[in-house]
Amino acid sequence: MKKENSGRTGASARMRADELVRLQIAALEAAPNAIVITDRKGTITWVNSAFQRLTGYTGEEAIGQTPRLLKSGQQSRAFYTEMWKTILSGRRWQGELINRRKDGSLYREEMTLTAVHGQGGEITHFIAIKQDITQRKQAEERAAWLAQVVENSSEMIAIGDSDLRITFANRAYLQALGYSEKEVLGKLLPSFQSPCNRPSLTEEIETATSEQSGWKGEVLHRRRDGTDFPTLLSTGLLKDNEGHLLGVFGSALDISERKRAEEELRESADRTRLLLDSLAKAVYGLNSKGECTFCNATCLELLGYRDSSELLGKNMHELTHYKRPDGTLYPLNECRGYRAFQEGKTSHVRDEVFWRADGTSFPVEYWSYPIRRKGELTGAVVTFVDITERKQAEEELRRTHEELNIALEESQQRARENEKLTELVDVLQSCQTVEEAYTFIEKTLPTILLCRAGALFMTNPSRDAVEAVAVWGESLSTEKVFRPDDCWALRRGKIHRVENAAAPLRCTHVCESPAGGYLCVPLAAQGETLGVLYMEGQAESSGPWAKAPEKQKEALERQAAAAGERISLALANLRLREVLRHQSTRDPLTGLFNRRYMEESLNRELGRALRGNLPVSLILLDLDHFKRFNDTFGHEAGDLVLREGAKILQSHMRGSDIASRIGGEEFVLIFPAMPCDTAHDRAELIRKELKALALQYRGQPLGQVTISAGVAVFPADGADAEALLHAADQALYRAKAEGRDRVVLK
Ligand code: GH3
Ligand code: MG
Ligand code: MG
Repeated sequence: MKKENSGRTGASARMRADELVRLQIAALEAAPNAIVITDRKGTITWVNSAFQRLTGYTGEEAIGQTPRLLKSGQQSRAFYTEMWKTILSGRRWQGELINRRKDGSLYREEMTLTAVHGQGGEITHFIAIKQDITQRKQAEERAAWLAQVVENSSEMIAIGDSDLRITFANRAYLQALGYSEKEVLGKLLPSFQSPCNRPSLTEEIETATSEQSGWKGEVLHRRRDGTDFPTLLSTGLLKDNEGHLLGVFGSALDISERKRAEEELRESADRTRLLLDSLAKAVYGLNSKGECTFCNATCLELLGYRDSSELLGKNMHELTHYKRPDGTLYPLNECRGYRAFQEGKTSHVRDEVFWRADGTSFPVEYWSYPIRRKGELTGAVVTFVDITERKQAEEELRRTHEELNIALEESQQRARENEKLTELVDVLQSCQTVEEAYTFIEKTLPTILLCRAGALFMTNPSRDAVEAVAVWGESLSTEKVFRPDDCWALRRGKIHRVENAAAPLRCTHVCESPAGGYLCVPLAAQGETLGVLYMEGQAESSGPWAKAPEKQKEALERQAAAAGERISLALANLRLREVLRHQSTRDPLTGLFNRRYMEESLNRELGRALRGNLPVSLILLDLDHFKRFNDTFGHEAGDLVLREGAKILQSHMRGSDIASRIGGEEFVLIFPAMPCDTAHDRAELIRKELKALALQYRGQPLGQVTISAGVAVFPADGADAEALLHAADQALYRAKAEGRDRVVLK
């Protein structure tokens, strides 16, 4: 092969040289760098296509020009002088220039300028190889800025290799930790974190960084002096453009300040919470929608909730204030607190209730204060207290007051009644007869005792009946006459009270129980039962009797008892007086008045007759041969004749007439305002009636009773009692003398 080739060496060599040149030109043409060839004087003789891409000039445009075509004016003259000096001395020049493209824009290029020498060593051409370094320059500049930013950042930034050994740490990092760069470089990144972090943290960060290409969170770093401080750490992976791992970086922000502020805030919140919870007053907050934003322990306790979560976010009106005290619905728009809140006003309410979780309620006093933020209404704070006890105390006070008033009223009433009773008793003492007393009682007692109707009953002399002697009020429910056994008060000797129709022990004399109940008060004095004071209570619930509390009823009962007692005494006195008077004025055998009374009465009647210019007739009568009744039938038979005779005399008496026995079987009859003739006729009538008496004693007829009578009239027959009696006696004497059994006028 060599042999064959050697024969054509010249041509081949030429061929090879041509081929080489062609290839070299193609290579230059294809080179990425712009290539410019100038002659010795600097005139451009050739450019490649990269030149056109770099500058915008085509070959035709560039050839024949000088490189000044690209001049931007950014380089100094000295720069060019130096460049020329270098290449003309045969050395290669290399440097950076700022040139201008055809379109006017500037770009950076790195240029290598080389001289080409001819056969004789002289410079024939220059070759300039240009590379656009704009982007590279920009990248370099950016890297430099970034480095500055990183270096000057206030965040702690450190970079480690894939083994986490520190290759870079910025100033903030070194300053914060208190180390020099030398002390840090080559150390493991996690070695500057505090051992007080949770044990798994380092591993957690590493895993997240490598697998999720980053971690962010709070980490305690430890300073050189052993103190710790909290940081917010972000980590990440550093990779080259192809994605190959170069290392890791960490950037940490000292958050001690923030933490301290947070801690302070938390402490302040805790203090506030403590303060709120220690308040005796209940407190809760509302947002503008009326929902609970906070509440204290007292609030929970009063409303009956265990945990604030049960209230937070809830509409407080709907939860605790939805009904009024009377249980009717309380719509939100009528709620006084809510309305005041809407108007941005403070409200103070003390007559409402709050409803507990269990549906019960309690009276409250509450205050609502609006909260404003930047002038806008954002909510309210409501405070409240349970005023149950206060209300109870008020109620208690009111009741006590009322009771005092009642007691006072009662005692005044009692005093008034007592006064009236005393008055009544006084009047009763001065009554002449019991009848007079009954009339007065009937009129007065109803005004003293609190009863609707009533009656005074007196036991009759034979003690087998009780009779109403004084009655007041309307439609009395009792019988007017009954047996003593029909009344429980009389049976038991003490007050009997029946409060209403349903009471079991109703007295038999009470036909139907009065609506207001009744009282029976036994009347007794000196061990003797006198009768019953009967009182009916006020009907319905209007009267104090039915409505009154037990205490008051007892008071009324005591009052009735006192009245009964005093009336009893007064009546007993009156009776006694009456008996005594009876005894002193009456003849015990016949019950007619005695001589003394007759004389007193005659004097009184004569005085009255004189004043009235009226007559008074007087009959003096004597039983004929009375001695014989005694002698024949015995003294008792004589007494019988006297008693029966007296009855007939009495039966002829009018209200104001007076019949008296003045001696053994002698009688005087006084007829005020009666003329003489009438008296004579009356005497005749009596004589005949006595004569007609067919008396028997122990089965034996006693025979006829005859009388002799003398009639005299005042003032004709006698100007005074003595004269009148004397006149009558004279007439009687004549009647005896004339044969007895006759009436003789004076
Ligand atoms: P003359 O017709 O004249 O009046 O006759 P006389 O018998 O009625 O009159 P005399 O005065 O002689 O008698 C009265 C008698 O009446 C005497 C006395 O024993 C009796 N005597 C008086 N008081 C009572 C009395 O209270 N009871 C009874 N049984 N007898 C009495
Ligand atoms: Mg006589
Ligand atoms: Mg006689």
